[in-house]
Order: sequence, then structure tokens, then C-alpha cells
Amino acid sequence: MYYNLIKMPALVRTGRGIVGKIDDILREHHFFFPKRVLITQEELYDLYGSMLDGCAEEVVFVKGGKFEEAPELLAKLTDKNALLLAFGGGSVLDLVKYCASKRDLPYVNIPSALSNDAVYSCLARLTDINGKKRSLQVQPPLGIIVDFDFISRSPRFMSLAGMADIVSNLSACEDWLLANHLTGERINEVAFMLAKQAALPLFDHADDVGSDGFFFDLTNGIVTSGLSTIVNGDTRGVSGSEHLISHAIDEFFPERATLHGLQVGWAHLYIEKYIRKNEKEAERLETLFTKTGLMDVIREKVQWKDEELPDLIPYAMRIRKRYTIFNTL
Ligand SMILES: [Zn+2]
Repeated sequence: MYYNLIKMPALVRTGRGIVGKIDDILREHHFFFPKRVLITQEELYDLYGSMLDGCAEEVVFVKGGKFEEAPELLAKLTDKNALLLAFGGGSVLDLVKYCASKRDLPYVNIPSALSNDAVYSCLARLTDINGKKRSLQVQPPLGIIVDFDFISRSPRFMSLAGMADIVSNLSACEDWLLANHLTGERINEVAFMLAKQAALPLFDHADDVGSDGFFFDLTNGIVTSGLSTIVNGDTRGVSGSEHLISHAIDEFFPERATLHGLQVGWAHLYIEKYIRKNEKEAERLETLFTKTGLMDVIREKVQWKDEELPDLIPYAMRIRKRYTIFNTL
């Protein structure tokens, strides 16, 4: 019997006011570190400083999101016994992930918003000096602490973008099945199940976005999606044709780009409706998007018209070699 050894998060904690109880949480999980370093943005610290009080011995400010900042942060991470606490949005978390992996230091993510699945993943996306986003394989975090007091203060459209990102796993799974049927590509069923299971509970929250129950299932989706990528060793179950469209916008039309999750949600609905022509699924998505207000956010923030999506497909197919519904057109 062969086993696939995967890294599980050693700590997942959700709730309200929990960052203030970080000592207790770490002790409960038998984590003993002589020093904790909080890495965040100055603006966020100004906003939430009182809630973060006492959670670390040292605070390091970063801007986040760019490779060029990595050497400066790496130079500050000299203590081999430190636990890093990354507090912020995707740009801070991605920078910490990258630097923590370089230094082989354990880190815990404390997201300030749940706008995409970067919160728990083994990929860091950072912008290089040419302004292009690059993805790098990194060590997943030791765990995540999702304090709903922070998340509920983030703009609602960010949580909706996070929801769309996780729900789009269903599109990625369809592409995976298609590739299996038409090209014989192997499906790792554990990764497939995890990816699918991340998305489904979110359909129960059409009427209560912003509730603790919604934030819990969104966190669940993010962790479960991350596990799918760790099990499979890549993002097959969580990133299909809809992600290729979003990546193509970021790569080739950055001036017309917006939040990842919103672009992914826009492409997902279009693909179900007009390319896969899966009426039932398109209707289910449309109901969720409309009831939660995501549809209005997409119309407001995505700078592309539905009629333009087919123009993006040739660009999308240049992003990476991954068989999707686009290969059948
Ligand atoms: Zn995504």
C-alpha cells in the first residue's frame, strides 16, 4: 500500500476576537516559539493595531505584492526560531509565503480579507520588475487564523470575489473531467473531491453573505481548495478555463484588470451559459450571483463586456498548457 504524504495545516482557527487570544491558540496547538514576527502593511497596522496588540514581539512593515521587495524582507528574517505571522491581503501573504519558504521559516496566515484562495495555498503570485505576475511553488503555511472581526470590516465585494473564486472550482472540475474523457488525462479523485467539496456549501449562503456561517464556509472552501492543490501537486482542480481568462486579462491587458475572483466569476458564468451550454448550472450560478449581489459587483468592476470574452480565448490558451473546454472550440 502506498501513501501520499501531504502537508496538512496544523492550525485552522475561525471566530471573532481570536487574534487577541493568539497566545492561547498557539499553546493549545503545542506551538512554542521564542519569538513571533508580525509582517503587515503600515496602513493595516494603523487601522487594526489595537486588535493586533501583543500578538508578536516584533512588527515588520512591507508593501507586498512585488519580488523586488523580497531581498529587503529576507534581510530582516534572521532569527531561525521565529514564527512569522502574515497579516493582510493577498499581496502581503504572497510576499511572506515566498520569503518564509526561502528562509525555511514556519508562518501562519491571518487574512484581513477573504478575496481569493491565496490565503491557504502552496503558490505565491508576485509581480516582477516588468510588471508581470509570476507564480511560484512555496511551502504552505503552518496554519491560518481567520478572525471574522477583520473579515467583516473588509469591503463586501472582496468576500464576494472570494466566493466566486472558490465556486469556480466547479468549472475547473468540469474541464478536468473533459480532459479525462477526451485525452485520458488522469484524475486524482481525492484532489477532485476536495476541489468540488470546497465550492458546494457556498450555495447555501445566497441570503446571508457577511454572516459568520458564510465566512466559515468561505474559509472551509479556501482551506479545502488549498488541500486539493497540495494533494495533486498543481491547481488542476481549482483552476480551469475560467482562470485562464482571468490570467489572460492580468497578463495581456493589465490596464483592464480587476480583482481575480470577480474576473473568474464573470468568465465562469459566461462559459457555463454560452460555451458548455449547461443551462441548469448557469441558472444555479446566476441565482447565487444575483441574490448575493455579486452580479452587480461584476457589472460594476469587470471592465469587459460578455461579447468580448471570445476575443480573450486565444490569449487564455497561451497562458499554460492545460486542456479545457477551449481546446474543443
Ligand atoms: Zn483563483
